[in-house]
This record gives sequence, structure tokens and C-alpha cells, in this order.
Amino acid sequence: MAVTGIPSGRHRRVVLKLSGESFSHAGERGISMEEVTHIAEQTARAAQLGVEIAIVIGGGNILRGAQFTAASTRIQEATGHYMGMLATVINGLALQDALESVGCPTRLSSAIRMDGVAEPYIRRRAARHLEKGRIVILACGTGSPFVTTDTAAAQRALELEADILLKATRVDGVYSDDPEKNPHAVLYSELSYHQVREQNLRVMDPTAIAQCMEHDMPILVFNFRKAGNIERAVSGEKVGTLIRSQAAEPR
Ligand code: UDP
Repeated sequence: MAVTGIPSGRHRRVVLKLSGESFSHAGERGISMEEVTHIAEQTARAAQLGVEIAIVIGGGNILRGAQFTAASTRIQEATGHYMGMLATVINGLALQDALESVGCPTRLSSAIRMDGVAEPYIRRRAARHLEKGRIVILACGTGSPFVTTDTAAAQRALELEADILLKATRVDGVYSDDPEKNPHAVLYSELSYHQVREQNLRVMDPTAIAQCMEHDMPILVFNFRKAGNIERAVSGEKVGTLIRSQAAEPR
């Protein structure tokens, strides 16, 4: 069944947000190539549907800037954020090789210049790669500290004129409470941006939600661990929780 309210059928272009934690075994840190390969295989099948895919990659499996905020670390907060952005490049390199090993042409594009390992992010260049069927991996977030790769995903979805922002998570969508702690948490099928903000639901960071809301960019929050879900999300099928301006009543 096609998702209502967004173009029916397969999407033309999507931005897929993968957190760093999708690259490691549950509860662990670092990179598990078993996990990365699993994601790459799913993404390759989605790309075979003919959908243009840009991937914004997180870095939380390696480090997040916020962990260095304590004065005792002697690392300035902004430095911590730059370290976090560099972590996304490490993930991006792993994902690039995993995707190419399953036959997907890719480009790794970085918001911070790093010419030896990635090309600089230039919007029109990234769009051209997408048109040519290459998967573009977007590393280093926005290139600026104090935000997260969620904000980068919202920004890139807007500037690359994606049909939808696909937020891959370990749970089935957006719940009324943390489903890993509260067994009675309710899974929403659809939500409006306002509901997400008013109920303070943990979806993406507030800046990302605000940007999507302002420009009417739909967000689909879905479980990438369920077999076939990346393909389903990319092809516009109803999985997870859809967030858009006019949501049906939450259920
Ligand atoms: N980061 C940043 N600016 C950006 C994107 C990321 O400063 O535009 C830093 C920030 O410290 C963040 C870290 O990079 O915590 C890793 O990204 P994120 O936490 O979004 O990774 P994820 O949770 O998706 O794995």
C-alpha cells in the first residue's frame, strides 16, 4: 500500500539517515562489518528499484561531541563536535566499500574538506551523482558544530529536493514512550510535526523537525533491522511512522 499524502508508488529521490549505532552490534560501539554489510545489501536492493539514494551517516558508534562537554575532558565543546563529524567519515568509508562490494557505485562526499578520502560536498555535484544512479554517502554532517547528523539529514533532504527523509532506527517507529523501557508504549502510524513537538516525542533533534516542518518535508521513521524494510521505505510502502503536516489521528 502506498503511503497517503506523499507521492504514491516509488519515490524518485530519498535521503536515508543512518545513525552510527546501526553500524555496531546492539549495545556495542565501533564498527561491525557484519552490520554494515547487512545495511549495504538492503540498500543495494533498494537502489535496484531505480530510486536515487543519498545517505547521511552518523558517528555515534564512535563518538558524539556532547560526551566531551565536561570541563574535566579539557576538550572544548566545539572540538568535540568536530571530532564527531570526523567519526562519520570513518563510517562513510566502511559503508562505501560495503556498498561497492555488492555492486553499487558510490561517492563519499564530505562537508569538511578531506580531499584524500572524500570529495567535497557540492550540492549540484551530489545531485548529478544521484541522477547517474550513484549512491551518495554524505559525511561530516552540516560541517558545523553544535548540531547533529539529523539536522544534516533534514538540510540535505531539502537542498537535494528529496521526496522524503527516511530515518532508520532500531525500533518500529515513533512510540508514545521508550518501547525498550515501557512495554505499554503505543506505536503511532502517523503524526504531524506539531504532535511531535507538543508531545516532545523522540524522533529527531528539534532543529531537524523544525526544518522539515517549515518546508513540509515528510519523515518516515522505520526499523531498518526488519528484513526488507529499507526497500519498503524507499518504495513508498507503509512501514513505521509517517510524520507530515496533516497526519491522520494518532493510533
Ligand atoms: N556533528 C556536528 N555537526 C553536524 C553533525 C554532527 O557537530 O552537522 C557532531 C556532533 O557532535 C554529533 C557527532 O558529530 O554528536 C556525531 O553525529 P550524530 O550524533 O548525529 O551521530 P548519530 O547519533 O546519528 O550516530
